[in-house]
Amino acid sequence: MTHLPHPTASAQGGPARSALRARLAALRGPGRAPRPMDSRALAALAANPGCDRRALLDSAGVDKAALAGALGAPSGFGRSQFAFARGHAFESRVTADGGAELVRLLCSVTGRTPPVATALDCPDTTGEGPAGRRARTLRALAEADEAAAEGRWTVLLHPMLELDVAGSPVCLEPDAVVVTPDAVRTIVEIKSFSILDGSADPAKVGAAARQAAVYALALAEAGGAVADAALLVCPRDFSNLPTAAPLDLRRQRATVRRQLARLTRVEEIAARLPQGVSFDPELPPDRLTAAVDAVPATYAPDCQSGCDLAFHCRERAREAGEPGVLGRATRAELGGLGTIADALAAARAPAPP
Ligand code: SF4
Repeated sequence: MTHLPHPTASAQGGPARSALRARLAALRGPGRAPRPMDSRALAALAANPGCDRRALLDSAGVDKAALAGALGAPSGFGRSQFAFARGHAFESRVTADGGAELVRLLCSVTGRTPPVATALDCPDTTGEGPAGRRARTLRALAEADEAAAEGRWTVLLHPMLELDVAGSPVCLEPDAVVVTPDAVRTIVEIKSFSILDGSADPAKVGAAARQAAVYALALAEAGGAVADAALLVCPRDFSNLPTAAPLDLRRQRATVRRQLARLTRVEEIAARLPQGVSFDPELPPDRLTAAVDAVPATYAPDCQSGCDLAFHCRERAREAGEPGVLGRATRAELGGLGTIADALAAARAPAPP
């Protein structure tokens, strides 16, 4: 179980953070709402902590898919409409009763006795904008702690959490959080892939664990006790009935925390950019290309599975002959040799006498 103190005043606001928010809003473009970063994007960001470009664009809430389209290199991935609709229908089904089904599933995994219906609260976490929703979430968590002292359970559906990423606050929205009567908070991940005969695709379970670990870190920033295991809720076998399994988050949480700590601070990246730079997808392509190219990137082939800008960055990396196009391992092995041409020249150089 992770216990963290409540966030300090400086972590919640202050002039430096207001200035950074204003700078990021300018980079996003006038009047453009920040695109919320989800845990999937954050887990991918943590997997490539050396990429300033992604760190800045994600922290600014730039719509990278729209940006990639405006650059003429549209993103090649995304969820199909069918998969999206199926996932949405399943989540609606398991949360339709105000969280009672989620509590029952949590109890089936932990061996607890489910509460009677009158001992379960499901407070409203809606609010105006991300800031309003976050304020409402923090209030609901505090109320849940008071309710726990009276033996009550609380389920928060789509609470709004915040995580500091490279010195910039990022809003995150887990599917649900359950607060048990011992005041421990458990992240719930609802997925549309099936658990067949008690097992599921390890790659999908691993991705779910990474996302849940990101949410757990954000939940810990709100204070209180966070469970070491998340609750994974999926359809059972070939039905639409839910089943659940625990997801041990300890290793993933430590890994994501370490990777996020390696990210260069966003204000430092932003400070190196010329004034007037903007990533507004409405700008002409040549201005956008210049803006994107002004931020250093570390392309590698695995960008294609996690970043909307992959095709643009791949093209630029190929043009520059960067070793990263051959993979992270090759880039690391070539060390200080900045281009593939440098590496070939070094390989062809006569051996020292
Ligand atoms: S695709 Fe580009 S911006 Fe995205 S992580 Fe890779 S190098 Fe960075």
